Amino acid sequence: MRVEHDFHLHTNLSVCAAREVTAADYVANARRLGLKKIGFSDHFWDAAIDGANKFYQTQNYEHIIQLKPELEALRCDDIQFYFGCETEYDPWRRGVAITEETAEKLDFLLVPNSHTHMMMPKDCYEPYQKHADFMMQALYDILESPVSRYITAIAHPFEAVACPYPNGILIDLIPDDDFRRVLDVMAKKGIAFEINVSSMQKKNHEEIERASQMRLFRLAREQGCKFLFGSDSHRAASHDFYGNADFVAGLLELKNDDIAPIARI
Ligand SMILES: [Zn+2]
Ligand SMILES: [Zn+2]
Repeated sequence: MRVEHDFHLHTNLSVCAAREVTAADYVANARRLGLKKIGFSDHFWDAAIDGANKFYQTQNYEHIIQLKPELEALRCDDIQFYFGCETEYDPWRRGVAITEETAEKLDFLLVPNSHTHMMMPKDCYEPYQKHADFMMQALYDILESPVSRYITAIAHPFEAVACPYPNGILIDLIPDDDFRRVLDVMAKKGIAFEINVSSMQKKNHEEIERASQMRLFRLAREQGCKFLFGSDSHRAASHDFYGNADFVAGLLELKNDDIAPIARI
C-alpha cells in the first residue's frame, strides 16, 4: 500500500524545529507527495501538570493552539488537517503530561516512551539493560494512565532519542516475548504503533530492512497493533525521505485495515 498520511509534524511552534518551518510548508509537501491526511503534533506539556522542564515550560496549550488560525486559513479540499500534539511521559507521576480535559480538545495524541534524553535519570544509560527497562516501564505506565483512552499512537516506540550509542542496541536487548506482552496491551487498547520514518533518513533500503526496529515492527503486526506513520519533520526538507514509509509498508505487507482508523483513506 501507499502511505498517504503523516501524523507527526512539528512546526516552528516546537522550540526544537527550524525557525522558518510553517504549516504551509508541510501542506505544500503533502500535496507534492500525494498525502491526503496530515497531523500536526508540536511538543507539549500541560500547564496544569507540574514538572515541565525548561524545554517544555513554554510549550503549553496556549502556545500550540496558535496553529489553529493558520490551519483554518490553509483549509483545502484535497488534504485533511488534524490538530494534535506530541506530549510526554511524566516519570514523576508515572503518567502522561496532559490532562483529560486538554486531551479532549485534540484530534489526536502522540506519546513517546523514548524521550529518554530528557525523561530518564542519567545513571540509566549504562548498563544498557537499565535504559531498555526504563522504556518498557514508561510504556506500561503510559498504557495504564487514565488518559490512555485518548492516545492515538506511541511515538517512535523504543527508539531512544539523542542516545549516545546506537539505539538499536536497546531494542536488541528486549526479547520477543517481552515485546509481545506490551504490544498486546497496545493492540487491545486500540493504541497504534507509530512507524517513525525520521530514523531512516540516512539509511538505504537494505539498511532499513536489517535495522533492529524491523523485528519490533513485525512483532507489532503479529500482535494485531494498528500503525500510524509519521515523518517527525522538524524542517520542510525532512519530507524528502518520506518514500521510506511506502518501502516499510511494503516490507510489512500492510493493508489499509492495518492503519489506525484516523489515518485510513
Ligand atoms: Zn519524539
Ligand atoms: Zn516528534
